[in-house]
Amino acid sequence: MEKLKNLKEKTLRGIAASAGVIIAKSYVLNEKAFNVFNIKKKSISESEVPVEIERFNNAITATRNQLLNLQQKISREMDEKHAHIFQAHLLILEDPMLIKETIQKVTEEKMNVEYELNLVLEKISNVFEKMNDGYLKERLSDIKDVGNRLLRNLLGEKHASWENMEKDVIIVAYDLSPSDTAIMHKEKVAGFVTDVGGKTSHTAIMARSLEIPAVVGLEIITQEVSSGDILIIDGNEGIVIINPKAATIKKYKQLQEKIEKAEKELSKLKNLPAVTLDNYRIHLHANIEFPGEIDSVLEHGAEGIGLYRTEFLFMNREQFPSEEERLEAFRGVVAKMAPRPVTIRTLDLGGDKFISYLNISGEMNPYLGLRAIRLCLQNIEMFKTQLKAILRASILKNLRIMFPMISGLDELIKVKAILNEVKNDLRKKRIPFDENIKVGAMIEIPSAAMIADILAREVDFFSIGTNDLIQYTLAVERANEKVAYLYDPLHPAVLRLIKLVIDAAGKYNIDVSMCGEMASDPSAVMILTGMGLKELSMSPVIIPEIKKIIRATSFKEAGTLTEKALHLVSSEKVEKLVNNAVKELGNMGI
Ligand code: PEP
Ligand code: MG
Repeated sequence: MEKLKNLKEKTLRGIAASAGVIIAKSYVLNEKAFNVFNIKKKSISESEVPVEIERFNNAITATRNQLLNLQQKISREMDEKHAHIFQAHLLILEDPMLIKETIQKVTEEKMNVEYELNLVLEKISNVFEKMNDGYLKERLSDIKDVGNRLLRNLLGEKHASWENMEKDVIIVAYDLSPSDTAIMHKEKVAGFVTDVGGKTSHTAIMARSLEIPAVVGLEIITQEVSSGDILIIDGNEGIVIINPKAATIKKYKQLQEKIEKAEKELSKLKNLPAVTLDNYRIHLHANIEFPGEIDSVLEHGAEGIGLYRTEFLFMNREQFPSEEERLEAFRGVVAKMAPRPVTIRTLDLGGDKFISYLNISGEMNPYLGLRAIRLCLQNIEMFKTQLKAILRASILKNLRIMFPMISGLDELIKVKAILNEVKNDLRKKRIPFDENIKVGAMIEIPSAAMIADILAREVDFFSIGTNDLIQYTLAVERANEKVAYLYDPLHPAVLRLIKLVIDAAGKYNIDVSMCGEMASDPSAVMILTGMGLKELSMSPVIIPEIKKIIRATSFKEAGTLTEKALHLVSSEKVEKLVNNAVKELGNMGI
């Protein structure tokens, strides 16, 4: 598609996903090809034909809505002329060759719709490529753009094209999956910016782990940038500057120096405890996705691992990792951290994390679908293999096991029974493991929070997953920039649920921690401490900043603040109260 290129400096605002300031050349992913998608050929039965056609119609509707939104946005923010490009795209979407022929092929050949659509798109491109007419040839890129969008909506996942990419570039993409982000450190990506996304999507979480500055939810960044343009990412403020002037570059270089200095200052806190002014001790743990992060975990002064997201071991490969491979990864983490505690979470695939060899994409609402523990309970052997690897890694006795997405008691009992079967199996084979291994449940679904007092009798600890708890409580998809303004950790409903969980844990005398991103939200820390939460787990890089807040806080005052906050009727009021309190901490640089 013709780029809406504007060589003048231009600033776009999005969602600050990962901190840091970076100035670099851009690399726009998926500018043209639609063959970058990993499309599998699958035969279908006669009765599945209508299902495939319905999926296709849904993808067309989603594509049409996206194009209409873009058209409106561009005409509002730029001009009618540029908005017309989307009119052309909408017309392509009505093209009988594209739609009718795909449906006809699905009906006759009984293959999955993405496969047939891809063939039709290839056929159309071949016809256009042979044309001598320059204008018509140019329309080919429009068809490819629409085809890309349709395929992306059908697959529910995007595969990025990394070939030809130079090192140290800023990636510009419509979207990036968590698995795309997972390979960025290898590719030496300087930063990334995307049209879609939210602050607690796994893509954003991964960027923070890898310390790659990122801004997401920019809506039109792929329309504004061409590969090679210079960009500035301000990942702290959620700002992207396209083709910056020399003076702007100078200003941001100064900001980079200032940030570096502040980080050095914070690193002095590394060996100091997270203790309040009135001697209330908080434990700060780290969330990790890869074993390779342990150096950063220790460097930032974490006292343990509060969440090891094991699913990243399953990404960017062709098949499940073997038990031995999993064992090696878990053992490595546990040994490097010992005697500090490590909490390993069992597989949480689904939602926004897919792997191509486990066919679970294509659900209407993946976050509400076959995700995490539900997926494991439908793939018992795969689940048992993971439990075995975790148990075998537990001999140093510093490992805890935690189950994600528990929604009710029956599920928890089922999961514990499977764990017991695996333990028995190991005992029979005389394979050692920690007989006293602690078992916990993530509390990240409102139903689990509401019955925390029931679940507390079944586990040794809770870990509150606010990323999902907020999403499910407020019905706001965590990776959706359009409703990001509603995604609110300080919503009274969220605070009440968290309080319920902490109180239930207190009543049944079990440990409770928080591993969702709220634990590292400077404006939430005082309230969480005030509620009695003693363990917070977060991205390693943010630990020093949170420690600084805790060390400047009085537990007694935090309790009074929390008491007040719990009686407020709106997030806005809570936010005001908390922001004033944080300001009063004085000179915190927040
Ligand atoms: C959460 O939901 O808060 C959580 C920590 O798990 P994840 O972000 O991996 O879904
Ligand atoms: Mg979660």
